[in-house]
Amino acid sequence: MSTVVAIDGPAGAGKSTVARMVADRLNYAYINTGSLYRALAYAAVTSGIAFSDITPEFLAGLQLEFRGADLYLNGVKLDAQLRKPECAEGASIVSAKPFVRDYLMPVQRNAARNQWIVMEGRDIGTVVFPDAERKFFVTASPEERARRRMAQSNEIANGATFESILADIIARDERDMNREIAPLKQAADAILIDTTGLTIDEVVAKIASYC
Ligand code: C5P
Repeated sequence: MSTVVAIDGPAGAGKSTVARMVADRLNYAYINTGSLYRALAYAAVTSGIAFSDITPEFLAGLQLEFRGADLYLNGVKLDAQLRKPECAEGASIVSAKPFVRDYLMPVQRNAARNQWIVMEGRDIGTVVFPDAERKFFVTASPEERARRRMAQSNEIANGATFESILADIIARDERDMNREIAPLKQAADAILIDTTGLTIDEVVAKIASYC
């Protein structure tokens, strides 16, 4: 038996911070599914493979699993490596491949088994857990998201400007919303939370009040 709170939304909307804090407040486990797609991009980079050249055979050679909220690739814990801009970019490219999404589906469903969980991503409420008890779609204007990303120095490329970050965010939204399989969209039964102009604490309180 598991209880799932699904938090979906576009890049840079503050989902991770908010989802982690909501999980703490509810005393639920927290799982960030973007890290799975980023881990595959990381695996490609470290194997010298172009993102577009990832194959099912390549994936079959990887061992990817959550141990609690921590993600392990071939027995090694991944964390800061995944925050690099090339992993974000690569994640968005590999995530459009149907066989990649099929490969990651059981990893996500197993992570929720037998626990109460806040799971964050793009398609949690629409595809991974369409029967989730609570669903939220967390968003903010592209400009606000670019401003927030500017403040996260570990996630931006050297020499990045507000304009280049905004362009990256818009490009990633486009790719995520327009892919054929599991595109980013608000589930019909998800509660929309526009975080533009709200503090993190206000967003957390709002989400927790529905749970
Ligand atoms: O959330 P994060 O920015 O880490 O996600 C990186 C990329 O992984 C997204 O831009 C998206 O393409 C992909 N993703 C996805 N489905 C999810 C989570 C992330 O397609 N559930």
